[in-house]
Amino acid sequence: MLYYSTSNHQYTVSLMQAVTKGLAPDGGLFMPDSLPRLPQAFLRNMSAMTLQEMAYAIASFALKGDVPADVLHDIIFDSLFFDIPLVTTAGGNHVLELFHGPTMAFKDVGTRFMARLLNFYRTQHPEWTTLNVLVPTSGDTGSAVANSFWHMPGVNVYVLYPRGAVNKIQKAQFASLGGNVMAIEVNGSFDDCKSLVEQAFMDAELNEAMRLTSAMSINYARIIPQMVYYFWAYAQLVKNQEDVSNLVFAVPCSNLGNLASGLMAQAMGLPVKRFVSVENQNNIFFNYVRTGVFTPKPTQYSIAPALDAGCPNNFGRIVDLLGSHENICRHIHAYSYNDNQIIDTILHTYDEEGYLLDPHSAVAYRAMAEDLQPGETGVALATAHPAKLKDMMERIIEEPVVLPAQLSRFLNGDLHVKKMNNGFTAFKQLLLSKA
Ligand SMILES: *Cc1c(COP(=O)(O)O)cnc(C)c1O
Repeated sequence: MLYYSTSNHQYTVSLMQAVTKGLAPDGGLFMPDSLPRLPQAFLRNMSAMTLQEMAYAIASFALKGDVPADVLHDIIFDSLFFDIPLVTTAGGNHVLELFHGPTMAFKDVGTRFMARLLNFYRTQHPEWTTLNVLVPTSGDTGSAVANSFWHMPGVNVYVLYPRGAVNKIQKAQFASLGGNVMAIEVNGSFDDCKSLVEQAFMDAELNEAMRLTSAMSINYARIIPQMVYYFWAYAQLVKNQEDVSNLVFAVPCSNLGNLASGLMAQAMGLPVKRFVSVENQNNIFFNYVRTGVFTPKPTQYSIAPALDAGCPNNFGRIVDLLGSHENICRHIHAYSYNDNQIIDTILHTYDEEGYLLDPHSAVAYRAMAEDLQPGETGVALATAHPAKLKDMMERIIEEPVVLPAQLSRFLNGDLHVKKMNNGFTAFKQLLLSKA
């Protein structure tokens, strides 16, 4: 199959090129030139499958032989070894818990698959020697990417994070690893970290000296496995004999990769009535849906830090999939909440239903409740475990939040952090010293 750039459909590459480059040279995002529709019989039989079996089947359809079957099988089974439970709260609301992976955020799903696919391509290209993964983060991406590549021979990971803006547990999740993971604390903002990485990709001398790869959410390899849990949720509802004829998904959105994955699942034949996109005060997509104008803005910090994006970089995929603004509005209802509304939702849901939502999941939960009509079945995507933001959550609910062993293990190690001023020259020298 070929993958075209959303900025120029004539420019096409192989899956290997799409995944190793991340972004097309014209700045476009890669999309498959065809998306097969899954047979009806497959949809009917899904409820009998395990998550791994379903993921392997869907990825095989979506990739149409681009990855050898035995390789794809290993990649999928190794990536998705954890559960994705669909829970029903005391109030009868469905929550898909995407946070049971190694770093307890939904990004594990996409980054583990991407890391293993990139590693397959690396083993096919001995001339690359080392693959260098550059990742700017405000928390979740850095930890998921670093853990996905940790201990992989021939891969170095550079995580750039803004000083003072990443919480203790998230920082420990990448800075305590050591080995092939380098944590770089930048004296600047998240947007500065992003800009340093972008400059690195455009620097001819650096790209000559070393093989650089982006692990950002624009990478098509992250989209493929993220389609799977939409099918998985559907299958769990069928198993529970719920009505799936009017299915609505609410998605906490930042760079819109998760939402784009859901739309792709729908394009492959998953019967979804509508998606609900939910942002925090960085409400670029919400404003686009309201006005038809897409206007990026500087990032504002919030209590849902993984939603702090001022320029949602998968927007091009959504336009490519749905076309006009009118059609986008038909498929997606958009919401946006400020910090006080997020806190209210966490408190209300905890008090009334005994279910503790993290701030990211809370926006989806609230929008689901506001948007759902009688006769519809809603699923809110929960994207992070509440203990990831332990201190903040404890301030909100005024009760201790237990840290699962999966997270506390990160706090036992020493942190290895390289401090750097916000300047491209220093970053470039650091990278070249490792080449
Ligand atoms: C990254 C992230 C999101 C946003 O996902 P996008 O694909 O960027 O829209 C939501 N919640 C959490 C916890 C995340 O880490």
